[in-house]
Amino acid sequence: MRIMTQIRCLLAPNPSAMTFRGTNTYIIGEGEVAVLDPGPDDPAHLAAILEATKGERITHILLSHDHKDHSMLVPGLKAATGAPLCGYDSPSSAIRPDIALQDGQILESTSWQLEAIHTPGHSDDHLCFAAGNICLTADHVMGWASTAIIPPRGRLRDYMESLAKLETRPWQRFLSGHGDPIEDPAKRLATLRAHRQAREASILRLLSQGPSTLDGIVNSLYARIAPGLRPAARHNVNAHVIALCETGQVQMQDDRLEMAQP
Ligand SMILES: [Zn+2]
Repeated sequence: MRIMTQIRCLLAPNPSAMTFRGTNTYIIGEGEVAVLDPGPDDPAHLAAILEATKGERITHILLSHDHKDHSMLVPGLKAATGAPLCGYDSPSSAIRPDIALQDGQILESTSWQLEAIHTPGHSDDHLCFAAGNICLTADHVMGWASTAIIPPRGRLRDYMESLAKLETRPWQRFLSGHGDPIEDPAKRLATLRAHRQAREASILRLLSQGPSTLDGIVNSLYARIAPGLRPAARHNVNAHVIALCETGQVQMQDDRLEMAQP
């Protein structure tokens, strides 16, 4: 039997340059529900989750990845509900799950069914969750911005492979960790892929004109970026540089970057 999973969204009160309007907490199913990404450690948000699920039972706490804006409320929600934490168990995670999910694993209850999809890139423990042809993409795919890839746990090559993993399936809608639903998933995936390819091409173009440094590249490519977003931009360029060094296209000597000699 195919379950049509009902999904509700609660916005956490943690807006910022990195979290947009705040973290989206999702309540999945009816009656016996799962909560995906409890969000920041904020008593008002905990109260809002409990109020929204009044008369229901939270049976599972799901985590897309361990970044603080998604995970800090996990202990509070566990204490309030007794529900186990389900997530990807990476040795580098700050918070370890009670139930470790594998790629492709199906989780189900009376009113919902989800498939965990391991999508490293933003973080090595990142999971998306599919409910039929709707995908809860957390920070892997967002509509308002591209994903920050922060080495070493964030890896560009993993991210590109994780985009490809979603590209093989006919999604109807993405519900992401920050911002509005994405109604044209295939187009968004193609846009994000093209964005990274263009970024890589511009880094290679710069280095073909002469050696540079990480900060030199950031200054050239992100000349007018808001100061609050510069650290994320620098991490992203670093992620590209690491990937280019791994493929042997670029080499690094101390902090000097240059095209590898053919
Ligand atoms: Zn986030």
